[in-house]
Amino acid sequence: MINGLLSLCILIVCATTTLAGKYTTVILDPGHGGKDRGAKWGGVSEAYLNLRVAFKVEALLKAKKIPVVMTRRSDIFLSLSQRANIANRYKDAIFVSIHFNAHSNTSIKGVETFYASASGRRIASNIQTRLSAYTKTRNRGIKNGIGYAVLNRTKCPAVLVECGFISNSYERSRCAQSWYQTLAARGIVEGIIKSR
Ligand SMILES: [Zn+2]
Repeated sequence: MINGLLSLCILIVCATTTLAGKYTTVILDPGHGGKDRGAKWGGVSEAYLNLRVAFKVEALLKAKKIPVVMTRRSDIFLSLSQRANIANRYKDAIFVSIHFNAHSNTSIKGVETFYASASGRRIASNIQTRLSAYTKTRNRGIKNGIGYAVLNRTKCPAVLVECGFISNSYERSRCAQSWYQTLAARGIVEGIIKSR
C-alpha cells in the first residue's frame, strides 16, 4: 500500500545509477511486519501476504540459481533504515519490495509497480507486464514513486510491487489464496529475470 491517503508503505528509492542489467543479488523486502501490519481489510493482513509472496519469489529465484537476500523471514518489525541498510551491504543488487494495496474506494483493484530511477523503471516495467498477465487483474501500470518516497537510502535499483487491492472484496479473496500468490510470484520473478 503506498499512496497519499494510506501512507503506511514507504518506497525505498535508489541513490545511484547502477545499471539494472548488472545485478547479481536480489534483495527481497516483504513490506511491513511486526507492529506494522500494513493494510488490513476483512481479516486479511498485508504484512502476512507480503511475506507469503516473498517466500514464493525466493524459491523461484533460488531454483534459477539467483542469489536472494530477504530483509525479513518472519513477522518482525523492521524500520525503513534497517531495510535499506541490509540492501546496501550488497554490490550489484536490485531491491524488490513486495506489498499489497488498499484504498478507501473499495471498487479499486489491480496491480501496479513503482520505481524511482531510470534503472528501476526498466525493472518495474518488466515486472508489471508479467505480474498483470499472470494475475489477470487490472493493469494499473508503472508509476514514478518519487512523489511517495520518504527515504533515499538504498544504493541499488529499487522497485515496489503492489500485488493487488485487499480493500476490494473480490480481489482480497483472490490475494489471500496460495494460487494467486504463486501467480504473482511468477510474474515478479519473470520480470526480475528479464531485467538481467
Ligand atoms: Zn504496504
